[in-house]
Amino acid sequence: VKIPNVLLANGVPMPQLGLGVFKVENDQNVKSAIKWALEAGYRMIDTAMIYHNEEAVGEAIAESGLAREDLFITSKLWNADRGYDRTKAAFQASLQRLQLDYLDLYLIHWPASGYIESWQAMEELYGENKIRAIGVSNFEINHLNDLMSKTAIAPMVDQLETHPYFQQKGLHDFLGQHNIVHEAWGPLGQGKGNLMADPVLTQIAQAHDKSVAQVILRWHIQRHIIVIPKSIHRDRIEENADVFDFNLTEAEMAQIAAIDKGARGSRDPNDAEWLA
Ligand code: NAD
Repeated sequence: VKIPNVLLANGVPMPQLGLGVFKVENDQNVKSAIKWALEAGYRMIDTAMIYHNEEAVGEAIAESGLAREDLFITSKLWNADRGYDRTKAAFQASLQRLQLDYLDLYLIHWPASGYIESWQAMEELYGENKIRAIGVSNFEINHLNDLMSKTAIAPMVDQLETHPYFQQKGLHDFLGQHNIVHEAWGPLGQGKGNLMADPVLTQIAQAHDKSVAQVILRWHIQRHIIVIPKSIHRDRIEENADVFDFNLTEAEMAQIAAIDKGARGSRDPNDAEWLA
């Protein structure tokens, strides 16, 4: 499968579909999932310090035999590492665990206070070519306005919980206006609730002879969103990338737009107590 790129604000191309490895903790599972994904045509991998699997991701990359410039590797700065000095140290530690000398994308994982100082450290790392693009995750309009008013470089990506039951319509439009690429985490709703059995999605899937997962991923792609579905099963890893040979009609996109429940499946980025 040939996965298209999306151009970030600084001109760096980012694959529109990659493999997420949240909750994949067993080294063997990490390595086999990445191996199968690369064989299926994936070139982008989304990890984070807090997933505790950067070492295994690094081993899988090293064993892949692929050229570094053909891969797109994302990691994230954890809340405990906020602040200027800790951000620099945490970035270096992630690089070391991944056995890399640069990252393609580094994100502030959550908007914990101290993100301005973290961002300033990331701007410097970006200026030193140690990161090809910098961004944020779980930043809402209030956090983005604050960050952009106090720092020099606007984030190139915002990675947010996004799926048909939590479509993020307001934030999506805001990101578009500011040329920040919307990346979806939990693009399949994290396997929670009844999303995979939704009758509207099921009917559209049947009409295209595709699975519900494929219809959901296609819907994201037609919204110009970057997706990082997670699976450790070879058949699903392949299925999730096989979404570039069909198109949802405007009417189908509208039908899916109408099933939004505005219901988050996970933490609220404005949960000040958790982020304190
Ligand atoms: P997801 O939406 O990708 O759902 C994964 C689950 O969906 C799997 O565990 C499986 O149960 C199911 N699934 C996968 N493929 C399927 C298929 N073809 N058919 C049926 N079921 C299928 O959820 P996720 O892993 O939480 O999110 C994706 C990635 O986003 C993560 O791995 C991680 O890299 C990233 N993430 C980031 C944050 C953040 O705060 N920035 C939070 C959560 C996840």
